[in-house]
Amino acid sequence: MQIKDKILIVEDDEGILRYLHTTLLANGYQAIVAADGRSALALAASHCPTCILLDLGLPDIDGGEVIRQIRQWSTTPIIVISARSTETDKAEALDTGADDYLTKPFGTVELLARIRTAIRHSNSMSDQNSIALTGTYEVGELFIDFRKHRVSLGSKDINLTPNEFRIVALLARHAGQVLTYKSMLHELWGPAASSDNKILRVHMANIRRKLEPNPDEPRYIFTEIGVGYRMADSEDHM
Ligand code: CA
Repeated sequence: MQIKDKILIVEDDEGILRYLHTTLLANGYQAIVAADGRSALALAASHCPTCILLDLGLPDIDGGEVIRQIRQWSTTPIIVISARSTETDKAEALDTGADDYLTKPFGTVELLARIRTAIRHSNSMSDQNSIALTGTYEVGELFIDFRKHRVSLGSKDINLTPNEFRIVALLARHAGQVLTYKSMLHELWGPAASSDNKILRVHMANIRRKLEPNPDEPRYIFTEIGVGYRMADSEDHM
């Protein structure tokens, strides 16, 4: 018998909670539910769910605080579901340790796709993802060899500057995930990095000119406006 992934739903709105619960059960998941932050923390610890869907506006503690506390001991993927939809809110939730963000209202297809991506990503992180094993990234025509610092598109070699390569390599190692500007600047240039993301935008424009067949319609590196960037993974090119 196949073991079903267990999803913890944290939501105080009864209607949405019921919808999420029914949808997950109908799609082959186990689901446990919490209507406030404290029970969410208790259930996360006792059940070790495969993935957590988390509403940010909870009656007792703020959803952001729930993320912070869970991240102290667990890497289980957290998808924030919220009506708060400003770019700052998104970036803040991601910087606190959420893996993804869904803005209400959202559809069933989108919900299930995000859950699959989050779970797949956390599985590949835990049993050594294919990048760590092979030292390469390959999606569509784009191929990266991390050890040789080589990038090619189809049969064409792409010449990236050292900084451009570091940006592409960082995004590729987290393919499928949104990286915020802040987390990228910190990762690339250390804690003292300026918080001005203009430098990323300038590099990104050059990177896209080199590796996107059409820079206006990116196929490999996507912009999450006001939040950051996401590199394509295999699900984007199926
Ligand atoms: Ca709420």
